[in-house]
Amino acid sequence: MSAESTAATTHSKPTEGAHPLYPHLLAPLDLGHVVLKNRVLMGSMHVGLEHGLGPLTKMAAYFQRRAEGDVGLMVTGGVAPNTAGTTMPLGGKMSNRLEAWQHKVVTDAVHEAGGRIAMQILHTGRYAYHPFAVGPSAVKSPISLFKPRALSQRGIRKTIKDFADCAALAQHAGYDGVEIMGSEGYLINQFIATRTNKRSDSYGGDYDNRSRLAVEVVRAVRAAVGPEFILIFRLSMLDLVEGGSSFEEIVDLARRIEAAGASILNTGIGWHEARVPTIATLVPRAAFAWVTRRLKGEVGIPLVTSNRINMPDVAERVLAGGDADMISMARPFLADPDWVKKAEASRADEINTCIACNQACLDHIFARKRATCLVNPLACYETEWQIHPVKARRKIAVVGAGPAGLSCATTAAGRGHDVTLFEAAAQIGGQFNMARKIPGKQEFSETLRYYGRQIELTGVTLKLDTKVDADTLIAGGFDAIVLATGVSPRQVRIAGIDHAKVLSYVDVLSGGAKVGPRVAIIGAGGIGFDVAEFLTDPHAAELHGAPADATLNPENAARYYAEWGIAQDPAVRGGLTELDVPKSPREVHLCQRRTTRPGAALGKTTGWIHRASLKNRGVYLHVGCDYQLIDDAGLHLFEGEESRLLAVDTVVVCAGQEPRRELHAALTASGRPVHLIGGADVAGELDAKRAIRQGMQLATEL
Ligand code: FAD
Ligand code: NAP
Ligand code: SF4
Repeated sequence: MSAESTAATTHSKPTEGAHPLYPHLLAPLDLGHVVLKNRVLMGSMHVGLEHGLGPLTKMAAYFQRRAEGDVGLMVTGGVAPNTAGTTMPLGGKMSNRLEAWQHKVVTDAVHEAGGRIAMQILHTGRYAYHPFAVGPSAVKSPISLFKPRALSQRGIRKTIKDFADCAALAQHAGYDGVEIMGSEGYLINQFIATRTNKRSDSYGGDYDNRSRLAVEVVRAVRAAVGPEFILIFRLSMLDLVEGGSSFEEIVDLARRIEAAGASILNTGIGWHEARVPTIATLVPRAAFAWVTRRLKGEVGIPLVTSNRINMPDVAERVLAGGDADMISMARPFLADPDWVKKAEASRADEINTCIACNQACLDHIFARKRATCLVNPLACYETEWQIHPVKARRKIAVVGAGPAGLSCATTAAGRGHDVTLFEAAAQIGGQFNMARKIPGKQEFSETLRYYGRQIELTGVTLKLDTKVDADTLIAGGFDAIVLATGVSPRQVRIAGIDHAKVLSYVDVLSGGAKVGPRVAIIGAGGIGFDVAEFLTDPHAAELHGAPADATLNPENAARYYAEWGIAQDPAVRGGLTELDVPKSPREVHLCQRRTTRPGAALGKTTGWIHRASLKNRGVYLHVGCDYQLIDDAGLHLFEGEESRLLAVDTVVVCAGQEPRRELHAALTASGRPVHLIGGADVAGELDAKRAIRQGMQLATEL
């Protein structure tokens, strides 16, 4: 498809009859040979369902569910064009008819549901986690153990042919198009950047040569699939690594990719090895739309923008502002497959919003587990877990409106049970009300908004400000009682623990207790790290309890770019500049008894961000601590063999939690069926992922 044939169709403006709230987002997109029903692209995401021996039925059900939700165009997780390009041994690839046949069930399911789907062709290059890795040069990546072999010219020609053959097989399998992965530091991107391309032949040296592979792959793929097939190219528009492309080079390449036959250009932000968070929850919403906008007017084909767009109003604002022609979202469709349908029905307040925690999606994939979603445990389990209406309505009490109780109560009521939810506090949410006060965790408010609306929709009787006791529950005539009463902070035994300078994290985050300029935190788990972020952020007070979309605020975005060294100046190669870290208002010491690396148990894909953030803010880490005494002078401890005094004004205890089950014994003795979920069940290693999943699981069994 030539640039001329698509240029006229790119910017379909909202017309008469357009959606009243989201006229740009829900406008069709005419690609010439096909019209997409809206401007929503479900971005590529590896979820662990992409490979197997027979037909990919789980993957089919997963995509069918999203197609039923009216997504305009979906893109599969990356499929390699050959063995060298696979992510790991036996990783998904499509290089023969049998492998193409395995996908037929996916495309059939999507088409039956009225959807469209493209297959991403991903060659990992030096990111491959196996000994057959190849690259432009033998330059090892920091995120794989395996040093790649430099491709010969013959190897390059073979790789281009493999891309083309793979695209033809995808077409044969029934896909509506392919996306060629040219960003995120994968093979094509590795050829483009000088940091990884040290060649001196016609694929190395100047920019034209280094980008030759990208253009030749697109040209070969277009020739293989003919003009009536969607060809998306994911172009690295901001590498965020040393030796990345300049904006001038990116424009030049975008034009050549268009001329070679691409029908859509998707935005890639940051290599995997980049030390800049680009999709974590602390990244402001739509933080990279300006990157795509820079290319507007430079090419004629539609431009897709991506990264941290999770609600329809944000997506609409980006499109209406002219930053892009289409929005790519991936994780938001794990969280809610009906995202588009809810936007179409002007029911955005019912969307189960992706909070960008990575805990059940990317962290699972890195641990070689199937992805799912913290806020939607049904994701990727479509063939194994469905929720059905009840045959007999029962009267159920749920005690505690934290994540576990909310999930259980709304699921049970949604099935048809008569559910009463008791909450001691004046609001729902439990510990999420503390989590959402941590700077960069404002998204957690969205989960509470979602459950608040679900309570209304499913008819749960909510009793706030009601610290219910066992007698009331027994007298209530409930058929089942669910205790989701959560946790209490662990009391630690240290001499002087009753000193006035000792606070718990609850005092700090919920009670608004005054914290001095020098602080020691006892306990370096998830909450200890969060409290350290809170106490070292000069803007924590203004973000305290701010709504989720506060991250759209331009000052907040500017602070994020500065803190992580993101240059918006197009002249800066790779988009990287010096960090400008805000000065911490406090001196903070984060302590743990273990001698392991602090924060080692934090999420695989986000732990490094928290560690880097605290390091940049000058937080002192103490390991191997043996706490001795807290007195007017501060916290006395042994750090290994060394006796030390941390001269602090405040000690904040973040030493884990204990289950809160004071109602359990009396209720069990009464003979009522009693169930424990969430922190009330097991407090150790509790997180919201387990709490929500356990609540839903119990509700499907009640
Ligand atoms: P809780 O959230 O503790 O809720 C229990 C509820 O029961 C409370 O609202 C309480 O008032 C109520 N209750 C207790 N007794 C009674 C009674 N007798 N009558 C009526 N109501 C009662 N988890 C993550 O997965 N990711 C994170 O990033 C994350 N960050 C966090 C940050 C902070 C600062 C904190 C404090 C926690 C964080 N967590 C995080 C942990 C997460 O919030 C908890 O795992 C989760 O809230 C546990 O849910 P739960 O429903 O079991 O208990
Ligand atoms: P945690 O992760 O279990 O950490 C507790 C900390 O307290 C540890 O550093 C522990 O380390 C220390 N500790 C335990 N007992 C102690 C004692 N008796 N005296 C002194 N120190 C003690 O628990 P948490 O930080 O309270 O977090 C609770 C849960 O919330 C976590 O499991 C986590 O999953 C979740 N959470 C997740 C995130 C996230 O970003 N994903 C953020 C916040 C919370 P030592 O024993 O080595 O001292
Ligand atoms: Fe989003 Fe977290 Fe769910 Fe992943 S696990 S899709 S980041 S809410």
